[in-house]
Amino acid sequence: MTTTTERTSQGTAQGAQPLTAPLVTDALRLGGDWVTGDGGSFTVTDPATGQAVQTIHQISADQATQAIDAASEAFLYSGWKELLPHERGGYLRTIADLMVDNLDRLATIQTLNTGKTLSETRKLVASAAGTFRYYASAVESREEPVTPRRGPWQTVSVLEPLGVVAAITPWNSPVASDAQKIAPALAAGNAVVLKPAEWTPLVAMALMELVVESGLPEGLVTVLPGKSSVIGDAITGHPAVAKISFTGGTSAGKLIAHQAAERLIPTTLELGGKSPTIVCEDADIEQALQGVLFGIFSSSGQSCIAGSRLFVHQSIYRDFVDELVRRTRALHIGPGVDPDTDVGPLVHRRHRESVAWYVDRARSEGGAILCGGKAPDDPALAAGTYYEPTVIEGLGNSSATCQEEIFGPVLVCLPYENDDDLIAQANDTVYGLAVGIWTPDFLRAHRLAGAIDAGTVWINTYKQFSISTPFSGFKDSGLGVDKGMDGLAEYSKRKSLYWGLESTPMTWGKH
Ligand code: NAD
Repeated sequence: MTTTTERTSQGTAQGAQPLTAPLVTDALRLGGDWVTGDGGSFTVTDPATGQAVQTIHQISADQATQAIDAASEAFLYSGWKELLPHERGGYLRTIADLMVDNLDRLATIQTLNTGKTLSETRKLVASAAGTFRYYASAVESREEPVTPRRGPWQTVSVLEPLGVVAAITPWNSPVASDAQKIAPALAAGNAVVLKPAEWTPLVAMALMELVVESGLPEGLVTVLPGKSSVIGDAITGHPAVAKISFTGGTSAGKLIAHQAAERLIPTTLELGGKSPTIVCEDADIEQALQGVLFGIFSSSGQSCIAGSRLFVHQSIYRDFVDELVRRTRALHIGPGVDPDTDVGPLVHRRHRESVAWYVDRARSEGGAILCGGKAPDDPALAAGTYYEPTVIEGLGNSSATCQEEIFGPVLVCLPYENDDDLIAQANDTVYGLAVGIWTPDFLRAHRLAGAIDAGTVWINTYKQFSISTPFSGFKDSGLGVDKGMDGLAEYSKRKSLYWGLESTPMTWGKH
């Protein structure tokens, strides 16, 4: 266990005491054994209470290297890549079953670690199990085409695994983002090392226990709990790593893309966003109000696809925003374990400081804070990292507040004049992750969906997902695709086989 001073230096609540029973096995899985990390320690605190949950021994760069060596051995020699797709699928289904059997445990661990509501973390675990099932079926049903003949040969385009995939995930929805990388990578025949975010390692470590229980050959999945400053380069620079699948912030994503380019290995990058939500003058107002509220304030706004820039037609702007503010004030702020909670705490004290800094800057830019803009006054919430849902107006789209990702419960509202003005403003951002459009006019929705540069468009709904539908970000929001059959293709390489069909030798060179 770390001392209070050590814990404080890791950014945790001073004086907090860890829970007596550990939630997860605090060790690295290496060579069929559990090995204690020797790269320092980090105490996870419950963001709802400030109470310590568990101290984790993070791994060192040497241990990360050893784990990737072991993953490479497993890829080459465990027989995994030689299994038939339905045989690999069987293991994925077993992992999914174990996740469902442990749903309450995994959801509770994730709520204690991230502050998310239990209703959300239950859905995330169920959806992560569904991701394993989907890729079990997807790999069984994907086809390798026999391509049209252009001569006396037959051509087949086959798919092969890449090798060791380094999966790097952020803190906001760990179990879902972990599954979206591990499941397709494994299904396609690869080995995976997963580095969870420092603040939220617990659910990935619990998943590691289930992977061991599933009987998957050792070394094919390894969770690497550690700091990016300690193990990041050991992962991205390891010669056996054949692909990096990264979800996180745009600046880290660009750095990783540079590192991958040096080694000419592929990356999938799912990065930040500043997504517009558009309420047209003919929108169903009730539907739009609830959709906008959910789009920004669910998960306390800590979502890459949060609808954080609200555009409302100027003819309905005042009434719409006033009612939105009234409903925002009525949201119930509380711990994730309380079934009445709409808005839980932010993930970490340092993240709340960051959100508060952005709101202070909005004030200094001349923004009017219509509600929120501070931690709640309720003394019962004082020990947690809560921040009130905040609505801001009075800023132009070019302001820093409208341009930069805040990643918290902060919505900025802008009126627009007409569709041309709207499209120009909506696209005036470095990001291109998602957009929400509220209008019953089919043709208008179709036109706006085509004109706005975003990987996902929601029309009269928001923040809904299907694992079978590809997800990608445009511009600074990313590169490559997660989910769906395209997401599986990201973890394979194509090889073309030509079979000669002639029984006589080539005539070339015979004079
Ligand atoms: P982050 O970029 O700080 O970290 C993400 C992960 O990368 C963490 O595990 C971190 O330890 C690791 N990392 C950072 N630098 C690294 C390096 N040089 N080498 C190896 N690993 C490194 O992001 P965050 O603060 O954890 O997450 C929030 C960000 O994630 C937001 O910008 C959000 O929009 C984005 N996000 C995007 C999506 C998407 O699908 N597009 C989904 C969720 C979150």
